[in-house]
Amino acid sequence: MYNPSKISESIREFHADLTAIRRDIHTNPEHAYKEHRTAALVAERLKFYGVDEVHTGIGGTGVVGVIRGSRPGDRNVGLRADMDCLAMSEETKLPWASINKGFMHGCGHDGHTTMLLGAARYLAKTRNFSGNVFCVFQPAEEGQAGAKAMLDDGLLTRFPIHAFYGLHNAPWVALGTMAVRNGAMMAAADQIEITIEGKGGHGGMPQFSYDPILASAHVLTAIQSIASRNVDPADAVVVSICGIEGGVMGTYNVIPREVKMVGTVRTYRTETQQLVEQKLKLIVENTAAAFGATGKVKFTKGYPATINHKREAELAADVGRGIFGAENVITEIFPNTGGEDFAFFLQAVPGAYIWVGQKTDTSFPIHHSCYDFDDRIIPNGAGLLAAIAEKELA
Ligand SMILES: [Zn+2]
Ligand SMILES: [Zn+2]
Repeated sequence: MYNPSKISESIREFHADLTAIRRDIHTNPEHAYKEHRTAALVAERLKFYGVDEVHTGIGGTGVVGVIRGSRPGDRNVGLRADMDCLAMSEETKLPWASINKGFMHGCGHDGHTTMLLGAARYLAKTRNFSGNVFCVFQPAEEGQAGAKAMLDDGLLTRFPIHAFYGLHNAPWVALGTMAVRNGAMMAAADQIEITIEGKGGHGGMPQFSYDPILASAHVLTAIQSIASRNVDPADAVVVSICGIEGGVMGTYNVIPREVKMVGTVRTYRTETQQLVEQKLKLIVENTAAAFGATGKVKFTKGYPATINHKREAELAADVGRGIFGAENVITEIFPNTGGEDFAFFLQAVPGAYIWVGQKTDTSFPIHHSCYDFDDRIIPNGAGLLAAIAEKELA
């Protein structure tokens, strides 16, 4: 009899083991495509748990564990964890804090890797499903598209996945709850670089120059009208300028030749993404021109939006109700404007991306130097992945 809460309860039996693994990975964080120790640990654990096949070196340091069900079947499920850390310094002072200076598991990928190991251990032992479960441990989620690297390395031809699931811990969702919705979960994250070129000159004789600093101030203000005047108020968009550089600090009388600005654009829909790109170009070029300067925009596309598929989002919520309790599964939630490269997997195959809550009064946000993954969510998170696989392959 299929009972998701029984699954997380049996994973709870090795909660202490999993916690030790999580803290060990936390102590030894590894950055994008350098997850050699972590990948070796994952491969070793998978073999130890009796997983049928362990494949390494996919898309760099990616690992795939294949678990065959006890019944034949032609459907396969993919479960994803990310293994990489962030290039930032940890300030938690925890006994299991990072020993790799300047690197930290500040996004909880140590916990995701551990939860997928927990699911693999349960699934390899019970095999109460048909077809195959592919446990996918990807490199480089943080900005360097490890998911895409695995796809480009033939992930889906070698491991034909029919439904793909991944989860992320969420310090903005209450501990003991989970959230999943149909449609957008995370935004497309694009980079912009704006260059305003004027004509430098004497700060005391501005009439002989075209001031790029003044032009950039107008550009900076004007591009905020994209969100407020061009995009449907019911849609969402972020245009943030996060860096601006021009002139020399300490030099009081020189108008520089050039100002550069960098920033990020977040959207959920391709139409909106295209609209923002067009409007940025129009505003930057024409505003700069009005001040006698030349404006250019470089728009670099990053991760696409993470869009859940309806059937899979509903299946995940349904399974989650059996684990977290019906009242603790949130499906009415706003998407998040962060980026996530699970988006590439969801563009390739149907699936869903889920948040497992870990918000308490004392929790820190992800990417904060005091953040730590909450080990209490391991049994339910791992149980959720395993139960989804069983449900998909019943
Ligand atoms: Zn992150
Ligand atoms: Zn993350």
